[in-house]
Parts: sequence; C-alpha cells; structure tokens
Amino acid sequence: MASTLLRGKTALVTGSTSGIGLGMARSLAAEGANILFNGFGDAAEIAQLQADTAREFGVQTAYHNADMSKAPEIEALFAFAADKFGGLDVVVNNAGIQHVANVEDFPVEKWDSIIAINLTSAFHTSRLALPFMRKQNWGRIINLASAHGLVGSAGKSAYVAAKHGLVGLTKVTALETAQTGVTANAICPGFVLTPLVQKQVDARALKDGLSNDEAKKALLADKQPSGEFVTPEELGALAVFLCSDAAKQVRGVAWNMDGGWVAQ
Ligand code: NAD
Repeated sequence: MASTLLRGKTALVTGSTSGIGLGMARSLAAEGANILFNGFGDAAEIAQLQADTAREFGVQTAYHNADMSKAPEIEALFAFAADKFGGLDVVVNNAGIQHVANVEDFPVEKWDSIIAINLTSAFHTSRLALPFMRKQNWGRIINLASAHGLVGSAGKSAYVAAKHGLVGLTKVTALETAQTGVTANAICPGFVLTPLVQKQVDARALKDGLSNDEAKKALLADKQPSGEFVTPEELGALAVFLCSDAAKQVRGVAWNMDGGWVAQ
C-alpha cells in the first residue's frame, strides 16, 4: 500500500526536471505529496514527468517554469502555488548550477548566476513560504547544500561560497522558527552522478585522457572515500525522514550524505 506520510500536503521542488531534484520529487510523491515541479527542459518531457508521477503515486502534479535567479518569477511561482494548492507545505530548494575556474579567471556573470540560483533563490522561497507555514504551524524547508557547504575545493569559489551561505541561511531560518512546527535543514551530498557532475567527469576525461569510467573513478578517488556515487533515491529518503514527525526536533542541521567526504 502507498505510504501516506505526506498525503494531502504539497511540495515544491525547485530544479526538479533532472537529477537530484527529480529524485526528491519522486520520493516525496511516493509518500503521497502533491508535487509542484520547476526547472528547465523540454516541455513535452516535463509534461511526461508530471503525468508519470501523478499516475504512479496517485498525487496531483503541476509545473511552473520560474527562473530561480529572478525574484519576480519566484513570486509568480508562489502565487501560482497558492492558487493551485492553497500554499506549500514542503519547499525543497534544489535548483543549482556549477562552474569550475580559479578565482582570478572566474567569469563575473557566472559568479552572479551561481550566487543567485544556488543561494539567493532559497532566501526568496523561504521568505515567501514561511507566512503560510507559520499560519498552519507546520512546514518543512529543505535546502540542498553540498559537501561544499562544509568544506572547500579549488576551482569552485562561487559554488562553495553559495553552499556555505545556504548552510548559514538554513541555521538562521531554523532558529527563527525554532518554537513552531516549521523546520529548516540542509542536506549536503557528496558526488551524485547527475548531468551537473557528468560535465565534471567529461572535463576530467578530456584533461587526463581517460575513459568515462576511469574519469568517474578518478573524480571519486579525489574526494569520496566510499568510491561510490550517492544516489538521488538515497537523498530522497533523507528528505522524507526530515519531513516526518520523528524529525521534528531536527533543526538547522547540515546533514552530509557524502561517502565519507567531510570525515577526512
Ligand atoms: P542537475 O543539473 O541535474 O539539475 C539541476 C536542476 O536545476 C535542473 O532541473 C535544472 O533545470 C534546474 N535549474 C538550473 N538553473 C535553474 C534556474 N535558473 N531556475 C530554475 N531551475 C534551474 O543538477 P543536480 O546535480 O541534480 O543538482 C541539484 C542540486 O544538488 C544543486 O543545488 C547542486 O548544487 C546540488 N548538489 C549536487 C551534487 C552532485 O554531485 N550532483 C552534489 C552536491 C550538491
């Protein structure tokens, strides 16, 4: 029988047309949550994702194409959610991009986009979600940070700055809601094999003359002691736990699921 932990609740997962966000959306839908998808991609494929999720899990789905780097579009997304679902019970701030270059070579417009999409968007969704969550005295804000929210890596200045910032935002949001039924937490994955990481695998293969498989192993060997990728399903299971009653005193954590990356 389908699980009902989140039956009747609605979750927004930003950047859920691909990768981790899609895994999160499916995990929450499997618990009965209606899903508001967001992210870029082919319109027909997104419509298919919505239809598949609705049919597989017996939930309602919707999609909004807000560019998460733009405050007015995020406001439009929330107006759409209020109209369609009455409000958002769970917000997963997942949309994110990466760019790798040393600080002195880092393109200024890339810096601005990474900070806007990976950090500032979560400020906007949180400020817009909290009034409804506080009113009903229940809500879950889950910020997809990264092992790079806890430690740095050369070449990833904007990403590391944004993810450390997101961990900071999570702590403050958790403190401001500490005496309510709303919680805010961050999840800090290590490497997950998504399009975002495949680009880094491709760059490594090109740089060192490696096959795709060799480049994956090399990338993991640098950082992730388990030598295995984390999966979107494993991260989805952690998000489901954070939504459960058992997690109601889990507040302001930056929970790494990273094959041992930050234990080193
Ligand atoms: P991905 O590239 O597969 O997916 C990114 C999603 O964000 C897509 O749906 C894309 O359309 C969407 N997106 C990008 N820019 C957007 C914008 N301006 N507005 C709205 N949506 C936008 O990436 P992923 O690996 O699944 O990453 C998801 C999140 O997890 C990111 O925040 C990333 O930093 C974080 N993360 C990923 C890894 C990893 O190893 N893949 C590790 C740690 C953290």
